Amino acid sequence: MTPAKKKRISELADFLSSEFAVGNLTDLIAAADSESLSIYFDHYESSFDGMLVHFDQQFHVHINLDKGNTKTSKRGRFTLAHELGHFFIDEHRIGLKYGLLQAHPSLNNLNHTSLIENEADYFASCLLMPENKYKAFCARKPFSFDLINSISDSFQTSLVASILRFIDIGSREFMVVVSRSDVVKWFSKSHDFPKFPFRFKVGLNLPKDTLSARYFLKPIIPYQSLIEEIDPESWFYINDNRANKTMYEQCYFSEINGYLVTLIWFK
Ligand SMILES: [Zn+2]
Repeated sequence: MTPAKKKRISELADFLSSEFAVGNLTDLIAAADSESLSIYFDHYESSFDGMLVHFDQQFHVHINLDKGNTKTSKRGRFTLAHELGHFFIDEHRIGLKYGLLQAHPSLNNLNHTSLIENEADYFASCLLMPENKYKAFCARKPFSFDLINSISDSFQTSLVASILRFIDIGSREFMVVVSRSDVVKWFSKSHDFPKFPFRFKVGLNLPKDTLSARYFLKPIIPYQSLIEEIDPESWFYINDNRANKTMYEQCYFSEINGYLVTLIWFK
């Protein structure tokens, strides 16, 4: 996504959320109603999370209850916001209307590789967590899972969506690593996080000497660890004077999908 496109999507989402928000909560249904967009929450088995289709001169949004996408669930809100992205972003709506883009089943996994899915996810993230409100909410609060959880509650967004938004606009250097059964699934880091070589790879085990790897030796559910002071060398090959700096690690086990989410940051 180009910076210009990103800015345009963010401004569009900001405008909509300012029109249709109560406190930090963006009212997605009201935004859809303003365009007479029909939304159907129904049972579609495991095929998709959400789908926008143009049929009979009108747009319709289908949201799949069978995957936990209710009107008020965090997953359902993100799925609906993503589909609204396909409607409100001109190129997507026009493309779908004139058959230049195929109607597609959207999946809620925040790790897409296709451009239009990334754009719709970015729109959803901006619509649900507008930059100014997000920054005001986080101001002067210490970084940890407690902050991420309070963001998730206030904006009604999933933990991972809340973390990714922090990476996008937060002022803190940190990294998130998501693993399952001791295997790293994906990671992301703020743009200012030091470029140290990692002691881990996607698809392989977590580094042994980490709080996260220890969790899988004896899993507890539900789980949120305390903030632990760690040796930066347990995760990275430190190649500058930060080897002696204090680093923190905290992890959280998500019962919904079986993922361990790890936050790593410098003091
Ligand atoms: Zn999509």
